[in-house]
Amino acid sequence: MKYASEINRRRTFAIISHPDAGKTTLTEKFLLFGGAIQTAGAVKSNKIKKHATSDFMEIERQRGISVATSVMTFEYKNTLINLLDTPGHKDFAEDTYRTLTAVDSVILVVDSVNGVEDQTRRLMEVISMRKTPVMVFINKMDRDGKNRFDLLEEIEAELKINLHPMTWPINSGKDFKGVYDLRQESLVLFTAGTKADDEEDVVEIKDLSGDTLDKKIGNTDADILREDVELVDGVYGVLDKAKYRSGDIAPVFFGSAVNNFGVKEMLDTFIEIAPDPQPRATTERDVEPGEPKMSGFVFKIHANLDPKHRDRIAFFRICSGKFERNKYYHHVRLDKDFRFSNPYTFLARSKDVVEDAYPGDIVGLFDTGNFKIGDTLTEGENFFFTGIPSFSPEIFKEVVNKDPMKTKQLEKGLMQLTDEGVAQLFTQFGGNKKIIGCVGELQFEVIQYRLLQEYGASVQFNTLPFYKACWITSNDKKKLDDFTRFKMQNVGEDKDGNQVYLAQSEWFLQTERNNNPDIEFHFTSEIH
Ligand code: GDP
Repeated sequence: MKYASEINRRRTFAIISHPDAGKTTLTEKFLLFGGAIQTAGAVKSNKIKKHATSDFMEIERQRGISVATSVMTFEYKNTLINLLDTPGHKDFAEDTYRTLTAVDSVILVVDSVNGVEDQTRRLMEVISMRKTPVMVFINKMDRDGKNRFDLLEEIEAELKINLHPMTWPINSGKDFKGVYDLRQESLVLFTAGTKADDEEDVVEIKDLSGDTLDKKIGNTDADILREDVELVDGVYGVLDKAKYRSGDIAPVFFGSAVNNFGVKEMLDTFIEIAPDPQPRATTERDVEPGEPKMSGFVFKIHANLDPKHRDRIAFFRICSGKFERNKYYHHVRLDKDFRFSNPYTFLARSKDVVEDAYPGDIVGLFDTGNFKIGDTLTEGENFFFTGIPSFSPEIFKEVVNKDPMKTKQLEKGLMQLTDEGVAQLFTQFGGNKKIIGCVGELQFEVIQYRLLQEYGASVQFNTLPFYKACWITSNDKKKLDDFTRFKMQNVGEDKDGNQVYLAQSEWFLQTERNNNPDIEFHFTSEIH
């Protein structure tokens, strides 16, 4: 295997959570451990509050920060960690889903008070589908949370995963005394506000029946812990790493991110057992990271809001070989070769031009409009990485051009914004209407704002009574053509010319499915 030592020391992952569970706080603690930042508060939350478009716009204005924190690369104990940020707001879920295609594992943060929340449930569906390995951090143990056993049960049942506790909590809320590290067989005592460079108060206790435990946490809590640990050991035994890596078992840690408690235990385990860059499926074959030739794909595109700098940054995940600055790579979709003189790394200390990068790394490629999400670069081979999803939108609006003088700009803007994956564009066959489909209302405001700011195009949206778009295919071309002809008002095509049925309601959708057994209706379409 080529570049084995570089590949083995890399971990590429994302932290996901329902908003407010503590993702930003945990990210920050990780960066402190990695020495990438010196002080707390340095990581800006990318949170968007409910209905606050202004928040989003403000974040957009600070794209510099936003781009820089989309990927955070840092070293910890000689491991190179690529942490990919995901937006928490549900209107941007698509962006999160696509980011999840570029990671090898995830850490899921669950709030011990609120338990499993909406957003977590949706994200976990995508993760389970892909069998991505998951570690769970149960956060905010310093607050009166749910009973520890109930929490585990709830997470297992709601998220349909098998858990494996790695640490075990001693109380919660104001009585929270710390965790027992089941793997290291040591007691980690809780002190609020621990900084990254403070040593945690760790006492090795191999034999829980001795009185050291009572001295440290008192008789009552010591007895409860003994009982808990016996039970937990009996039920879970030793962690089967292979099952973690195949996505069948999720190791669980308890802690408090804001107090930097329980974080180190997880990070140390993470660098030890989390998968290094994994093979990836393509339209032709599986690509191994250790193959000598470079390949990778674009999973995210960031535009520059400043109209003077219209360039975009394409986020490119390297899947095999070594990526080199100024070397020509083959853009499979365009069948053209490109080279990049300023590929951008996301090392937290310096936003620098990178000379070379390895599988698992993300590089930012300056782009003038040649990339769209899902694009593959290779050293000559013709294949596409698969599994990058396009979801069925849920809100549909017709684009009305308010300034006919700017038709060209509008078309260009719509093409580019949809290439970035902000929304999907459909053209209705009957009437030729341009229809934008999104998963959230907020995106329409973003599109309207950006079309004006970046392309000078002024638009208005008319809400359409559609509830879902599904891609339609059939082995019987005539049946598909007939269906399209009869349902002109409800059929159109997406940007790539795939036929789409726009359903007014679940009832219509069901009826059409029943009446047209030869037509298949798909709710997600993979870009490749
Ligand atoms: P995100 O939306 O998931 O990124 O959540 P944040 O990291 O921004 O955290 C949301 C809020 O929870 C902030 O006010 C944090 O200070 C707070 N928080 C994070 N971790 C803890 C914790 O361990 N205990 C307590 N009590 N609060 C926490």
